[in-house]
Amino acid sequence: MFDVIIVGAGFAGAVLAERLASQNDYRILIIEKRQHVGGNCYDNHDENGVLVHRYGPHLFHTDNGHVFRYLSQFTEWNYYEHEVLAYIDGQYVPVPFNLNTLEKLLPAGLSRTIEDKLIHRYGYGSKVPIMALRNENESELKFLADFVYEKMFVNYTAKQWGCKPEDIAPEVTARVPVHISRDNRYFQDRYQALPKHGYAALFGKMLDHPNIKLLMNADYKDVVSIDNTNQSITAFGQVFNGKFIYTGAIDELFEYSLGELPYRSLQFQFEHFHKDYYQKATTINYPNNHDFTRITEFKRASGQIVAGTTILKEFPQDYDRRDNQKNIPYYPVFTEKNTELFKQYKALANTMDQLILVGRLAEYRYYDMDDIVERSLQVFKEHFEASSIEN
Ligand code: FAD
Ligand code: UDP
Repeated sequence: MFDVIIVGAGFAGAVLAERLASQNDYRILIIEKRQHVGGNCYDNHDENGVLVHRYGPHLFHTDNGHVFRYLSQFTEWNYYEHEVLAYIDGQYVPVPFNLNTLEKLLPAGLSRTIEDKLIHRYGYGSKVPIMALRNENESELKFLADFVYEKMFVNYTAKQWGCKPEDIAPEVTARVPVHISRDNRYFQDRYQALPKHGYAALFGKMLDHPNIKLLMNADYKDVVSIDNTNQSITAFGQVFNGKFIYTGAIDELFEYSLGELPYRSLQFQFEHFHKDYYQKATTINYPNNHDFTRITEFKRASGQIVAGTTILKEFPQDYDRRDNQKNIPYYPVFTEKNTELFKQYKALANTMDQLILVGRLAEYRYYDMDDIVERSLQVFKEHFEASSIEN
């Protein structure tokens, strides 16, 4: 009946379904446990008509022209460059920490001295991860490193990850490096935009193909069973011999047989206000005050003209698959121990020829949207493009 079964209709599942249907004329079944496509990128209009991102703010940004052109087949764009402020010592200051932030938070003489030292040491325009800056021995740079660590990273990271910055992979805090410039943008990528009619519309267009069937509100385990001892997959009670592309959590796929992989979850609190704007930037981070990490005001990013405004507060929490308030695994937790366990699951997966793992949860990776689109296009190329099949 189907050539390929895909679990999950986020970017990983949707890109592969789109490629396989449009390029290979394959018949695809996507099994998605939510009521909608788009995975965590899903957006819709709230009861007040404001377009909101249901699973946290999703700002598309990439330097990858190939990915941008691929997605542009399915959407027009509103160009938008993200700016974030942090509430520190009673002031709203730019994030990532940059020379403007420095000037706002420290006395003029000291900030000038540190600015000169930073430019001399690293060069104007460079980006230095906070954990690298912490290795500095020079007294003023060391002072700065400790200051930024304390004011911007330590408490935010404690809320977001439940640990100290040094207890999580350095790549995580390096996503928001100290920026030795006066550029207040959150990202410097060449392409920064939001889908003009929203992510849900983009996904709708990607998946609008007669060869793609969607089974919504269904956990794959309701219809598929995997037997990795005998290397067999059964779907709807019959042996399935095609490829099985899985974009959900890898430990779930193997029934937690090697132990549970840790994730961080989130609670989202949306609030609507009958005024034009709520705050002075799209996102304001709260590294020290309050239990939430950040507040995002959607219409500032979308440019939507609408009466009133809706904001979102994000409250991080531990993931618990048995508690329906905490059972969405938004972020893998990047530590050596967890990566080790992931590798063991991956080794199990490698024993099954039919299985292809793609996605943030299946690969236990901190993929941004552009990364996962690129990765999915690569998977298509490696496993399914005519030339790779002939080989
Ligand atoms: P997902 O979008 O998670 O899709 C996986 C799908 O599989 C889900 O729909 C899920 O319901 C389904 N599924 C899982 N298990 C099963 C099962 N057992 N049966 C059936 N279906 C199942 N990236 C950016 O580039 N910019 C941003 O600003 C940004 N902000 C983010 C903010 C937050 C709070 C989060 C959590 C992520 C953010 N991201 C951002 C990352 C972005 O969400 C991911 O890159 C992208 O969603 C990854 O796509 P995916 O298909 O791997 O996973
Ligand atoms: N971070 C921080 N303070 C900030 C912004 C970021 O400590 O004001 C750290 C924190 O550990 C966070 C990581 O940097 O998880 C990556 O931030 P990013 O904004 O990329 O997180 P995401 O948008 O993926 O949640």
